[in-house]
Amino acid sequence: MLRSEGYLVSPSLVFRAIRRLVDQGSIRKVLVAGGYALVREDRAITLFCGQCGGLYDIPCVEAFDALDHAAAANGLAASRYIVEIEGRCSRCAEGITPG
Ligand SMILES: [Zn+2]
Repeated sequence: MLRSEGYLVSPSLVFRAIRRLVDQGSIRKVLVAGGYALVREDRAITLFCGQCGGLYDIPCVEAFDALDHAAAANGLAASRYIVEIEGRCSRCAEGITPG
């Protein structure tokens, strides 16, 4: 988009912008998707559809309570979580195409 408007953007500028957004907590890396997503909730499980690329954050208090307990039982006070699950969403399973 910027290039089509006559702007040249260096990759390092883009990487610095991404790093800044990550540092601010606005976006986070999604390991299973190999990309970045907006941070909507700190304590959410990320579901990733490997077929359509859909990302869904779901809150799950019970899961995070269990993770806190497991971490504390092993001497760690949890401060950050990365919980991602890859699979196939119900729309893809039903053969419904995105759009
Ligand atoms: Zn899907």
